[in-house]
Amino acid sequence: MDRKTLAKDDFRGFVVNLMQQYPVSGVVQKGKHHVYADLESPDQLCPDSTYLRTILPPKKYCFPQREELLRFSTADDVTTRDALEVCVRVVIGLHPCDLHALQMLETSLGSDRPDDHWVRRRASLAIIGIDCLPDEHCFCGSMRTNLPPQNGYDLFLTDIGESYVVEVGTERGAELLDNAPGLRAATDHELGQVLAFRDKKVRSFQLELTTQPENLPLALTSFRNSPVWEEQASKCLACGSCNVTCATCYCFDVLDRMDLSLKEGVRERQWDGCLLPDFAKVAHGGNFRSKGVARYRHRFYRKFEYLPVRYGKVFCCGCGRCSVNCVPDIANPVKVLNKVIDGAVNGRRTS
Ligand code: SF4
Ligand code: SF4
Repeated sequence: MDRKTLAKDDFRGFVVNLMQQYPVSGVVQKGKHHVYADLESPDQLCPDSTYLRTILPPKKYCFPQREELLRFSTADDVTTRDALEVCVRVVIGLHPCDLHALQMLETSLGSDRPDDHWVRRRASLAIIGIDCLPDEHCFCGSMRTNLPPQNGYDLFLTDIGESYVVEVGTERGAELLDNAPGLRAATDHELGQVLAFRDKKVRSFQLELTTQPENLPLALTSFRNSPVWEEQASKCLACGSCNVTCATCYCFDVLDRMDLSLKEGVRERQWDGCLLPDFAKVAHGGNFRSKGVARYRHRFYRKFEYLPVRYGKVFCCGCGRCSVNCVPDIANPVKVLNKVIDGAVNGRRTS
């Protein structure tokens, strides 16, 4: 892998160069928070490792909150038209956990049952990641998503003080660096600084899962009746914040909207969330998960049992967005899973 060094003083020129060629999005400050937004100026960008997480994850660039799937006409014969047009877009600032989250979604939406819109949007995304340090909600170390994944980025930056070390992941990444001002090969000392940063990160986690993530599917088969689910779910507000801010949730609802002539319409999809009371409601009015405890427990089983059994990996990157956005503080997977598992280990009857 090629590794370069880009001085921070030259980073602005690098971004200006990109903005002359592509639409560029990146992490910008919004009040007290950070969001991914389209850049109008490189000065909007928050290019260092100090921001902790964005409100919405970068999956929105491949799987938007709401999107048109197709337009249809019933005028004569029924016809349909897919109106999606994509172009290469550069997104700057993804942390390693979010890079892993995109790979998890790619496993499902890009490979197992390819979703045409996901596949086309993902292929058009040029990704520039950046390393970070955890806060009290992060647990990517326990999910093994703390390092940038192979094949998960075009460029990846590590902040070493006055400069970034830039790992070049793809040919497209190398092209993004064309004409970058002041670019040079990274020295051994600078590569050592990258390792030191990663060591510091590993030592900084405040949350740790008490078992290995690959043990979770088997462990959870025994804990379906744990009293912890009921105890935690009794505090749930059914607001769905843990779902809509999640980096790896990908459930959606599909709606057809007719125009007033009743001759034409659009089929749209929008994010849905399994914690919302109507999520499992079906046409005749029945609801397969009408009780809060069933919805609450389902979220954990989906991420740590059902999808791992199917795809061989947990579907949580440890980003902590669910934890930050849950008012009663019952959504952090590590806290909840430790409670369920440790409760059993320490002798409580859970099944
Ligand atoms: S469950 Fe929480 S920590 Fe895991 S990916 Fe979703 S938002 Fe991030
Ligand atoms: S964010 Fe918290 S309160 Fe809201 S649905 Fe999720 S678990 Fe329930």
